[in-house]
Amino acid sequence: MRKQELTRFRKELEAQLAEISHHGVATMQDMVDGGEELPDPNDRASRESEIESELRLRDRDRKLIPKIHLALARIRAGTFGLCTTCGQPIGAARLRARPVTDLCIDCKREAERLER
Ligand SMILES: [Zn+2]
Repeated sequence: MRKQELTRFRKELEAQLAEISHHGVATMQDMVDGGEELPDPNDRASRESEIESELRLRDRDRKLIPKIHLALARIRAGTFGLCTTCGQPIGAARLRARPVTDLCIDCKREAERLER
């Protein structure tokens, strides 16, 4: 992979990491601010589902953080864009859609098949 492309991926991953970190802080602040009593049960219910979906989002983000760090480490190590299972280059379209991926599409399918 060309250096220019690597730099683009690195910037993208770093931006994603910053966004997630920021999002986590903002969400926690929202929850604290929204902690006051809501007298209307409908308001309470919608507030609860709001918090629930926020928690789901944060859970997904939390799982993404180590993947981003690993992808950045692979960029530094010069192995970014190579499948960690078979060592073949990961398809450019797949990598662009999901820069944190460490498996080529064939190995990913195989891993998913074994999971089932
Ligand atoms: Zn592979």
